[in-house]
Amino acid sequence: MSDIIQLLPDHVANQIAAGEVVQRPASVVKELLENAIDANATSIKLLIKDAGKALIQVIDNGKGMSETDARFCFERHATSKIKTAEDLFNLQTKGFRGEALASIAAIAHVELKTKQENQELGTHIKIEGSKIISQELVSTSKGTSIAVKNLFYNIPARRNFLKSNTVETRHIIDEFQRVALVHPAIEFSMYHNENEVYRLNDSNLRKRIVAVLGKKTNEKLVPIDETTDVLTLTGFVSKPEFAKKKRGEQFFFVNNRFIKSAYLHHAVTSAFEGLLATGYHPSYFLYLTVPTNTIDINIHPTKTEIKFDNEKTLYAIIRSTIKHSLGQYNVAPVLDFNRDATMDTPYGFKDKTVYKEPVISIDRSFNPFENESSKSTRFSYKKEKSQQWESLYTDISIPKINTRQQLFTNDSITAKTHQVHRKYIVSTIKSGVIFIHQNLAHQRILYEEYLENSTVKEAMSQQLLFPLEINFSKDDIKLIQEIQYDLESTGFLFDKIKGEMIVVKGVPTTITESKITVILEQLLDDIKNEIPDTSFSQLDIVAKSLAKSMAIKTGTQLSTEEQEDILERLFACKEPNHSPFGKPTFISMELNEIDKKFGL
Ligand code: ADP
Ligand code: MG
Repeated sequence: MSDIIQLLPDHVANQIAAGEVVQRPASVVKELLENAIDANATSIKLLIKDAGKALIQVIDNGKGMSETDARFCFERHATSKIKTAEDLFNLQTKGFRGEALASIAAIAHVELKTKQENQELGTHIKIEGSKIISQELVSTSKGTSIAVKNLFYNIPARRNFLKSNTVETRHIIDEFQRVALVHPAIEFSMYHNENEVYRLNDSNLRKRIVAVLGKKTNEKLVPIDETTDVLTLTGFVSKPEFAKKKRGEQFFFVNNRFIKSAYLHHAVTSAFEGLLATGYHPSYFLYLTVPTNTIDINIHPTKTEIKFDNEKTLYAIIRSTIKHSLGQYNVAPVLDFNRDATMDTPYGFKDKTVYKEPVISIDRSFNPFENESSKSTRFSYKKEKSQQWESLYTDISIPKINTRQQLFTNDSITAKTHQVHRKYIVSTIKSGVIFIHQNLAHQRILYEEYLENSTVKEAMSQQLLFPLEINFSKDDIKLIQEIQYDLESTGFLFDKIKGEMIVVKGVPTTITESKITVILEQLLDDIKNEIPDTSFSQLDIVAKSLAKSMAIKTGTQLSTEEQEDILERLFACKEPNHSPFGKPTFISMELNEIDKKFGL
């Protein structure tokens, strides 16, 4: 028999490697930024178009490449960073496998311009799908520019797999931030579709953190600083009173590399023990330096996990260092978890004078269940059926089996209800009893209301007496701009969304003023984390997130009237059976099932 084994052609091997290295535009961003840093750049510019799907370009002023190296850098395992296997155990640079550029060039249109200090002219190379298209001399400044266009152009399945621009941009910003946060002395800028997203001057760590995450971060930071034989730990944690309901700003860097470690995360949070109300998370920016031979560097290039030789020691030191710093900064005694949040002055509001005639005053203690007049509008079940609205449902595959008519004896629900354990509403139905989960049911109700408001009806909005200014980081502002339309269709009204601030002048009638900030933060967090990732549109995410935040919580006492209202509205829903996140909203028990239990 003839031999059948063949070596894979290079471009095929490269494509396979690319699958590992390049998952999405953000992976390219990471690789290119890291290469620029390894090249000792002091100024790095990132240009993105269409969330990186059309263009990712990194321009640096680093050491550049010779003509030969410029050609060679696209070869697999071409790296200037390790020479022997031994080097692997002493890695100081970011890249080392020599796979990134070869992988990227295999699945995109890449253009490289590079020049070294001593060269008069630089090298300009175009390469597409691993094939060199052209190579010329070019007049360019010292350093390297790599433009990656049409990512995955030759792997349509991959390209189609990419998420929405919002999500992909979020991933890119994450990578950008992670790199920018470890190199405060390097100047970074980022542009998306020609708009400046970041301009970070060279500075110190604290200023860099503030520049990346927004001005309001500054007052929150408690410095951490410890040097022992096994590690150096520097950075900042947030003061406990600034802890967030979301996990957002948590950064751990080991030897200048962003990592995720549930174990070390636990070390940090345990240092906050007793200082945080349940459900609140501290922010942290921690920089750990350990001898390179005590960590496992043989990690996958795109993975952020890491293995330490002496995890337990690190845990103990991290925990006690943070505890100590928190104590030193005397942040513990001022805490009062039970204070009334509605009494707090909103951000940026303290020093404001009234600059506008109030248009409509609102009831600050608005409670839909107490207010008869609002009830008449909110509690109408008339629904103009609409194809458009219908089509908004992702889970149309779930059969709608429980209509009001099927469950209840007559058209209107007259059955008595009871609330049990401030959690379930129990009611009699034709065939037995049902238990309705008050929180999940209300989520469904609100979710459908938001969707309906935004497609069929004008959303109901209540004007704020005084427009509310809220500060956000620049990239949060960008996100808000992107979902502005969806937010407005649920009843939000904005005066301004710019720089690091938004001005809210109206909110959905279901939201109280004191909750606005928390709800928006939660919403942004949900979008960033893309929960639920089954969502097909931003509007859907917005509706889901708002429904989740606004729904009556478990533990809330409900009057009979309120219970009946939930029942009524739930079964006026199109999909009463499930919460927007797919959990059952109620369970029913047939009489004969109950009978059986009695042996009848
Ligand atoms: P690695 O970073 O793992 O070595 P890459 O494929 O990312 O592999 O890069 C290959 C080589 O190309 C690098 O080792 C480096 O010598 C060179 N290179 C890549 N990007 C730059 C850059 N921005 N400036 C100078 N040299 C670069
Ligand atoms: Mg590299």
